[in-house]
Amino acid sequence: MASKYDVVVIGAGNAGLAAALSLAKKGREVLLLERHNVPGGCATSFVRGRFEFEVALHQLSGMGTDDRPGPLRELLRELGVLDKLEFVQMKDLYRIIMPGVADIRLKALKDEVVSTLKENFPKEKDSIDSFFDLVYEFCMQMIGGVYMHDPEISRDKYPLYFKYALKSSKEVLDHYFDDPVLKAVISPYWSYMGIPPKYLSFSDLAILIFAYIEFKPFHIKGGSQALSNALLDTFIQHGGTARLNTPVEKIIIKDGRASGVVTGHGEQIFSDYVISNASTISTYYELLGPEYVLEEVKIELGRSTIGPSAFTLFLGLDCEPNDLGIEETTNFIGTSLDMERTYELSKTLGRPEMGLLSCYDVSDPDFSPKGASQAAFVTLQYAEAWCNIGPTEYYDTKYRYAESMLDLVERAFPGIRGHLEEVEAATPLTHLRYLGHPGGAIYGFDQYAKDLNLFMSRRSPVDGLFLAGSWVDSGGFQPTLTSGRQAAKAVLKDMENKGVKR
Ligand SMILES: Cc1cc2nc3c(=O)[nH]c(=O)nc-3n(C[C@H](O)[C@H](O)[C@H](O)COP(=O)(O)OP(=O)(O)OC[C@H]3O[C@@H](n4cnc5c(N)ncnc54)[C@H](O)[C@@H]3O)c2cc1C
Repeated sequence: MASKYDVVVIGAGNAGLAAALSLAKKGREVLLLERHNVPGGCATSFVRGRFEFEVALHQLSGMGTDDRPGPLRELLRELGVLDKLEFVQMKDLYRIIMPGVADIRLKALKDEVVSTLKENFPKEKDSIDSFFDLVYEFCMQMIGGVYMHDPEISRDKYPLYFKYALKSSKEVLDHYFDDPVLKAVISPYWSYMGIPPKYLSFSDLAILIFAYIEFKPFHIKGGSQALSNALLDTFIQHGGTARLNTPVEKIIIKDGRASGVVTGHGEQIFSDYVISNASTISTYYELLGPEYVLEEVKIELGRSTIGPSAFTLFLGLDCEPNDLGIEETTNFIGTSLDMERTYELSKTLGRPEMGLLSCYDVSDPDFSPKGASQAAFVTLQYAEAWCNIGPTEYYDTKYRYAESMLDLVERAFPGIRGHLEEVEAATPLTHLRYLGHPGGAIYGFDQYAKDLNLFMSRRSPVDGLFLAGSWVDSGGFQPTLTSGRQAAKAVLKDMENKGVKR
């Protein structure tokens, strides 16, 4: 193995893989180093018994269809992996089950979402129309102004964007609707951002609703591991070098510039550029060292808080989904209309009030062995409460929490306990161990409006060091893959400016 590369990429999560592949495709010599023994970070799977469980992906956003491609489809085409993968479109947006309160199924079609909501909430039918008009017009303005980088962006040209972008989702929902059930039915995607409507910017809620309806939710045949493997294989085909089981312990600084890394095996590897897919906190404080962190960066980091991790129950079932009444791929189950309370509970070990059950076999009947199926049931959980329990209490706590999750699933799908063939659980500490991120965070920092990626910097204060992934852009598959491509572009631009030859 050479000991000098054009670029070293730390971490093979979505962003690390996309960055490494983008650079290798441009003819750069790239080394990708990953501490785990499989590529993907969150985007992986694992096997128990006859089931291969998906770790992270519930709904892939931004794909669009062949005739109406979305931004992610274009990105995967550009990376050369689109034709190597098979994507499964989900027909449902989601079903939301609040036992004794509501049970509503929404298809991923705008007119059907609106008509289903109007049927269920006839008193608010005019507001439902106006709300969806707002969501769509707002998103068109956000796409035209911000995403397309309109140089003449102004309040006059994009009035809705300027008026609503930083309002809280709760403020807008409260303005349009009276019925708390309707507000809960429209907004469960807040859990995809990790903060409730009270703190979530309207931009985030609106774009989630718009994007999942317009570009449809997808899953990948073979799970997200198939995507990670395809990205890695294509990277290697383009001349890239990858090493798994290889943590990076230090970023080498020479003359004030990042110029390589030291691995956990003690090797020094030199490079002109380093891209880190590790968390910003580990990159700055462990890999670089606090002496390299500028005061203004310390202040920026001090203002942000570490976002949530998750507790996931992986259920291998000895029956078909239909046998249990599971008819949609994506099922939100909730027992409270108070979303702030539900969110606050995710900081404690108290019984969860909301979870998302995904059953891929509904849209992809070959996902599990014949006659069987699998479901992943996930709820947000911050790591702190888990870090405060002693090692001897960990397994009991995990077992108790898993039982309370199963109780919640049973409220929506009675009898599921009798069909469990395999059960595995992942806590925030599991995510911490496998990802190496503080708090086992799955979306990086909390996504408060003030921390929107519009205000975060992908470029580090150290020359030659770039950051990519959920800690500098939003969490999620589409944002992190895009983040990797953007980091690669930034490196290429810097190379061009400095006249670095291929
Ligand atoms: C349970 C769960 C459900 C989710 N559901 C969805 C969903 O439905 N839709 C969606 O879009 N998103 C979802 N997400 C979020 C999404 O998976 C993540 O936001 C995204 O995958 C993060 O990608 P990333 O590039 O930031 O890297 P990560 O996945 O965080 O990976 C970082 C990589 O860097 C490696 N690394 C760290 N430090 C070092 C080091 N020092 N040396 C070498 N390697 C290092 C880690 O081992 C890891 O492989 C979910 C996540 C989870 C966990």
